[in-house]
Amino acid sequence: MKLICIGRNYTEHIEELENEKPKEPVIFLKPDTAILLKKQPFFIPDFSDDVHYEVEVLVKINRVGKYIDRKFAHKYYEDIGLGIDFTARDLQSHLKSKGLPWEKAKSFDGAAVIGKWIPKNELLDVNKIQFSLKKNDKIVQNGNSSHMLWKIDEIIEYVSKYFTLKIGDIIFTGTPSGVGKVNANDKLKGYIEEKEMFSITVK
Ligand code: MG
Repeated sequence: MKLICIGRNYTEHIEELENEKPKEPVIFLKPDTAILLKKQPFFIPDFSDDVHYEVEVLVKINRVGKYIDRKFAHKYYEDIGLGIDFTARDLQSHLKSKGLPWEKAKSFDGAAVIGKWIPKNELLDVNKIQFSLKKNDKIVQNGNSSHMLWKIDEIIEYVSKYFTLKIGDIIFTGTPSGVGKVNANDKLKGYIEEKEMFSITVK
């Protein structure tokens, strides 16, 4: 399976990193080795002094598809989740400045947190998902999928032009503003509305 991640999908986050607003979605991949194993702490890797959390809505693909029209995209997923796209921001900034790929900064072991799943029919509307991240019991990110530049069904249409989507693939749909650094002993908890979707400790 693969993890397909969308970058720069919320205007306020684009502004906080002083990035250019993209004309098309920014896509990158994480390998399955990036998934943080259940109940494991997240270890800050020794090659970064500035690892950031990015809370994101996740979509789990449940049918094989290629060139999926956005009208039919809703048939390709049942479950919505929440996760973290951990990013070694110092390394990413260096790679970006050189025009190099981001993988070392985004795709290292443990860099993808995948929380619980909710059937989408338990949500009122996938384009109005309210979600948040607490660091040490304080809300640090607050988002709503209504603010995505590319909505879930548009992302599936776009991504499936390039990559065949397979059962079990997971899409990270981008982070809202409020990203920040993690430190040892931080506790990160993610929520969709009031429901706790993950809880992890940083080491
Ligand atoms: Mg991200």
